[in-house]
Amino acid sequence: MFKIFNTLSRKVEDFQPIAPPKVRIYSCGPTVYDYAHIGNFRTFVTVDFLRRYLKWRKYEVFSVMNITDIDDKTIKKSKEENVSLKEVTLKYENAFFEDLKTLNCLKADIHPRATEHINEMVDLCKELEKRGFTYLSQGSLYYRISSFEKYGILSKIDKEGILEGARVDSDEYEKESARDFVLWKGKKEGEPFWESPWGEGRPGWHLECSAMSRKYLGDKFDIHTGGVDLIFPHHENEIAQSCGATGIEPVKYWFHIEHLLVNGEKMSKSKGNFYTLRDLLQKGFEPMAIRFLLLSVPYRKRLNFTLDGIESAKNSIKRVESFKIRIEEEKEKYQKIENEKGETELQNFKKKFEQSLDEDFNTAEALGGLFEFIREANSLLDKGEFSRNKLILSNQILSDFEYVFGIPLTKNEILEEDIEIKIKEREEARKRKDFALADAIRMELKEKGVILEDTPKGVRWRRE
Ligand code: AMP
Ligand code: ZN
Repeated sequence: MFKIFNTLSRKVEDFQPIAPPKVRIYSCGPTVYDYAHIGNFRTFVTVDFLRRYLKWRKYEVFSVMNITDIDDKTIKKSKEENVSLKEVTLKYENAFFEDLKTLNCLKADIHPRATEHINEMVDLCKELEKRGFTYLSQGSLYYRISSFEKYGILSKIDKEGILEGARVDSDEYEKESARDFVLWKGKKEGEPFWESPWGEGRPGWHLECSAMSRKYLGDKFDIHTGGVDLIFPHHENEIAQSCGATGIEPVKYWFHIEHLLVNGEKMSKSKGNFYTLRDLLQKGFEPMAIRFLLLSVPYRKRLNFTLDGIESAKNSIKRVESFKIRIEEEKEKYQKIENEKGETELQNFKKKFEQSLDEDFNTAEALGGLFEFIREANSLLDKGEFSRNKLILSNQILSDFEYVFGIPLTKNEILEEDIEIKIKEREEARKRKDFALADAIRMELKEKGVILEDTPKGVRWRRE
């Protein structure tokens, strides 16, 4: 069992999913009005790491990440550029998925778009209305936060500061000004709108995550993720909406990622102190070095971003890669040799790697364990004191690192023509009823990220 910090309790807790081995995760996704910056990617890469970790620990993960394609920012951008909302949001949604791929992040099982779930959002508002949590004012529907007793449960806001009847229409606002928030905004000139029982209009930002998490994950699920800036008001309002409608607190573990900073300030679009992934690639930095940097600081600590930081991340990866190559080169020599000297130390460093990850994902300590392992193993290799067992331990820790951190150590991209050749070899093996070889070829391609599908029309392949 591992431990995870829960923002709801402000404590590190034992992780006990609702229906093991299943783990259902909802992640607040991007607002697709521009390229995501590297601060946003700290959050998204950490979410990817979390999912990989859970799979490594043999959980069955089902994850949903929404796409916010309607809110104040997307509408503003479409007006500025004088193009339709759809054109703006599709462009940046595609860019987001490309960037995720570049950073070796796996896609969620479902990426629902807000604009495709307006009915679910309207239904949720109707339930809230029926239960007496809402009121109408000047064509918009608001959530009366004083009617939800648990308001503040997540962000621990001081309820004394709540002004009865004061309202807020904008999607984001400060903790100091907890206000009744808008669920359904009455139509404004020049803005996209939909029909609703309260007239034409559009949803407020907070509504989509309550409606979509409920639709795909049910009334209660295991983990909800986002950056720390989302604790208030977004996630506080999500609890008010979901719990208001169902009477059930929607999330067992709230998982929040600390900010990435530049010169001590949060990286953000509004401050103008940001790099997109594309900016950094253009400067010649490698995606995996960026990924390593983003994961090297434990997620609950702030990460001060510098270009030098990417450079040293690159060197760290090189150190691991060189070790992998060395093991590969020297394996013949040690495959049959028994030698116990130094084996316990290696085992302990490997344990440190695993146990640090199990302690609320202490990636810095885990990497410490990995590098201590490598130093010790290199020194044993220098002295000719390696062995079969040490080879096994080395391969295990390296493949665990590759899997959980999502950083492949050797480039194993395979070209299309080579895939076709492999598929032909597999077909021939199957004709000969050499199923062992056929399976081995399928596995070999899978390791290179190529999935084979046997269809009535023959074999199809796709990249993962
Ligand atoms: P947005 O597209 O603005 O909705 O943000 C997407 C995600 O990035 C959210 O989970 C934010 O909390 C997160 N985020 C925004 N800025 C930062 C930052 N500087 N460091 C870490 N995460 C951030
Ligand atoms: Zn959200």
